Amino acid sequence: MDPQLSKIATTLREIPFPTRFAVETNADCNLECSMCHHPSMRRPKGKMPFALWKKCADEIAIMGPETNCWFSFCGEPLLEPGLLMRCLDYGKSVGLKSLNVNTNGVLLEPELADPLMDTGLDLIVIGIDGFTKEVYEKVRVKGDRDAVYRNVEHLLERRHARREGPEIQVQFIEMDENEHEMDTFREYWLERGATVKLRNKLSWGGKFDTPVEVSFEDRIPCPWALTMMHVFWDGRVPRCPGDTEGDEGVGNAWDEPLTVLWNKLGHYRQKHLDHRFDELPTRCQECRDWMTGAAERIKPPGGSIVESSSDVEVRS
Ligand code: SF4
Ligand code: SF4
Repeated sequence: MDPQLSKIATTLREIPFPTRFAVETNADCNLECSMCHHPSMRRPKGKMPFALWKKCADEIAIMGPETNCWFSFCGEPLLEPGLLMRCLDYGKSVGLKSLNVNTNGVLLEPELADPLMDTGLDLIVIGIDGFTKEVYEKVRVKGDRDAVYRNVEHLLERRHARREGPEIQVQFIEMDENEHEMDTFREYWLERGATVKLRNKLSWGGKFDTPVEVSFEDRIPCPWALTMMHVFWDGRVPRCPGDTEGDEGVGNAWDEPLTVLWNKLGHYRQKHLDHRFDELPTRCQECRDWMTGAAERIKPPGGSIVESSSDVEVRS
């Protein structure tokens, strides 16, 4: 079996509350990335009422303040910067320990750098995927390479000037279109103090091909299903991140506590843990995301640690 997947499998067990929680503060996006399902997403788009995040955050603070809360699922959170910062502020005020933002960086304009860091967020991941304008804009369709590079460089400079701040990761999803730029991308950003995150392309519930090749005979329980819960902007909770339309949702966070919704997902988790994969919904038969969760993070000189994560990272 693939050694990285074996390592991930050893970490998976039934848990009473998710260790990762994705919050879709906004379901719109300003880009149409080539590797993302968002451009073809059919469900209604909107922004999350603050009261819904407050309800979730209050429960997470009691049930698992260490939970990694990710502000992003299907959409760009910086289309609503005021809402995002209010949510981050509130999360910190109730004692949440890990508040993370995943953004494409186009709207991470210089004047937002300090207010964003003032919230006390712990980590920001900027999905970039290319070094040259040509490759970047082929993958990050409708994006502006030079604006993103300028925005991230400014954020790094401000963090340096403040002498504290969130971890700043620049993400590179490895694909045929961009793999020849990976080394240049890594060197460029490490020199400027960012952590470089290299990750596999996801299949988004089987909608896309991925370059990862692992035999289905070596299948492991899906790390996303075992560890992570997602809430759409309107409160609906999908079965898993592959269920991007919420076709197999289990309820709504407005109506029920997160623990109840997590427990409703428990029979799926048990099937994964028992390796009864053929009893899972059809989507799980085609989805390859159980094999694409791992990511590698390379820290800049000074920290100079190279890590290969043994569990899943949020997607963008
Ligand atoms: S990857 Fe992110 S930025 Fe790109 S289209 Fe999807 S949601 Fe939007
Ligand atoms: S393998 Fe199944 S549980 Fe995991 S993301 Fe894909 S559809 Fe969801």
